[in-house]
Amino acid sequence: MSAYALGLAGAIVLAVPLARGASPSANPGPAAVEIDVTARSIQPGELVVLTVDAPADVEGVHVRVFGHAIEPFPIAGGRWRALVGIDLDVKTGPHVVTVDAGHARATRTLHVLPKSFPTRRLTVDPDFVTPPPSATERIERDQQLLAKAWQSSAATRLWAEPFARPVGEVANSAFGTRSIFNGLPRTAHGGADFLSPAGTPVKAPNSGRILIAQDLYFSGNTVVIDHGLGLFSLLAHLSLIEVREGDRVAVGQVVGKVGATGRVTGPHLHWAVRLNGARVDPLSLLALLGRT
Ligand SMILES: [Zn+2]
Repeated sequence: MSAYALGLAGAIVLAVPLARGASPSANPGPAAVEIDVTARSIQPGELVVLTVDAPADVEGVHVRVFGHAIEPFPIAGGRWRALVGIDLDVKTGPHVVTVDAGHARATRTLHVLPKSFPTRRLTVDPDFVTPPPSATERIERDQQLLAKAWQSSAATRLWAEPFARPVGEVANSAFGTRSIFNGLPRTAHGGADFLSPAGTPVKAPNSGRILIAQDLYFSGNTVVIDHGLGLFSLLAHLSLIEVREGDRVAVGQVVGKVGATGRVTGPHLHWAVRLNGARVDPLSLLALLGRT
């Protein structure tokens, strides 16, 4: 087990590193690449942390899974890390992770297990269930803004420290819940809700750059932080936004206050995490990379 894995409270090391090629007793062939997989579980909505041990002289490591490239970052001589999000809609079954490091290649298979999410019934202002025609343009603009944001991550890692809770209150485990608003099914709940009173300061879960600081139709006053390398935090329903687009924020810096703006039943903080397009449960991020 790596020193890193030992430091992960509650994390499960699902598999021991597998070296490609020669077994330890065989003649050394080309330098091996080892992949260590850490996750709470291999299921939709979960974060998977890959630790790659490559020959120390390798200058770049390339990771592919779920049909796209993941940008790894170096953490020590020859050791790299890559964060992989299993989107809510990823099909269950085997998905191969390919790691290329110099002339060496290693693969691992993630066996994504099914997960059944509960259904919840909520009653909100009807304008947030069947929006009036006057809101159509605004909703489309919001969707384009967010879609563009998810494509605008910094090419370097902007976070370093462990991730921190944005508020002190407990979160319910509502990630992935199939929501029925006023009797009508709507998209799955893509975040965790923290039951904090209105006015509670909301802190940046990690450092980054403010991409969005605006009032959006469904998520109300919304702050999106780009943490770099395809990782984002979205903090929604704020009563007040205290940062501006383009600002750099440090971990723990206040970005706004808990409120009840947008499609809500009452004051709470909604924190969503996007990782290379995948919707990931923020609680899995805290479990694997959070302060212990
Ligand atoms: Zn929510």
